[in-house]
Amino acid sequence: ATPLVVSIAVLKASKKGVLIRAGDVFEKIIGSDTIILDKTGTITVGKPVVVATHLLNNAGKEHVLRMACSVESRSEHPLSRAIVEKCVSEDVKFPEPEEYVSIPGEGVYGLVEGVSVAVGNVELGERLGASISENALRLVEEAGRRGNTPVIVFINNEAKTVLEIGDVLKEEASSVVRALKDYGFKIGLASGDVEASVKYYKDTLGLDFAYWGLKPRDKADLVREMQKNGSRVVFVGDGLNDAPALAVADVGVAMGSGADVSKEAGDIVVLNNSLKTLPFLLDFSRLVRKKII
Ligand code: ADP
Ligand code: MG
Repeated sequence: ATPLVVSIAVLKASKKGVLIRAGDVFEKIIGSDTIILDKTGTITVGKPVVVATHLLNNAGKEHVLRMACSVESRSEHPLSRAIVEKCVSEDVKFPEPEEYVSIPGEGVYGLVEGVSVAVGNVELGERLGASISENALRLVEEAGRRGNTPVIVFINNEAKTVLEIGDVLKEEASSVVRALKDYGFKIGLASGDVEASVKYYKDTLGLDFAYWGLKPRDKADLVREMQKNGSRVVFVGDGLNDAPALAVADVGVAMGSGADVSKEAGDIVVLNNSLKTLPFLLDFSRLVRKKII
């Protein structure tokens, strides 16, 4: 397509809430054969809620929530918001943490009123040398099989509670996946979440592949690996956590709603947060190629 056609296309796309940051993405998107989707906030609504609080070792619910919400209040992660929302709805007040550290893909930890608190997955517990009982591991496994995300609250390096957090699929997810498969794409998930939960979404959507337990760096490695094997990859994820994968993909699509979107990452930034943008981009790119926009 000529520069003029591309300029017009970029302008038209922006009116639909799709920011195109490089004119060659129209060609690249047509030339690609594999789509990798992030889970939380990409195929799911990304507004998860705490659906169950499994207390362990005589933990007091209010105390656990207070500690967890204190460290999570410093994070913008969708899971953090769900946990803080739980304290708000149960009227549990929480202080500012004295220390706070965030480990992308694992969780957060810090110091609350002199007590060490960590909230995150099994890897975070292992990193901190925390003890995780068989009982806790069983609850983690069961939550995953229900398609929910388990988050462990560690107090003084001991698993005290498993919070079960549920999210729902975006309403357009199934039809968009079907449309993309009809286009001939191989399509799957790359998620930091646990195996059972990721498999649940893979089966529900009928995806071709799924990878779980991935750190942001691992997602970028997965993209490189697929490229090495000859695939041309579109990665769709959130602009913050998935920035490394968005950068190495042939086409990086950052999803979000308005202010949530990090506009630094991705060749394409989707402001309307809708997966329908993907088939739209494909149809649109074909029109650009035929110069009939
Ligand atoms: P996804 O790939 O599903 O979007 P992330 O890479 O953001 O997930 O996170 C992977 C996992 O790390 C989460 O499922 C959760 O177990 C844990 N985690 C990450 N951030 C947090 C947090 N702020 N609080 C609790 N757990 C977290
Ligand atoms: Mg995510």
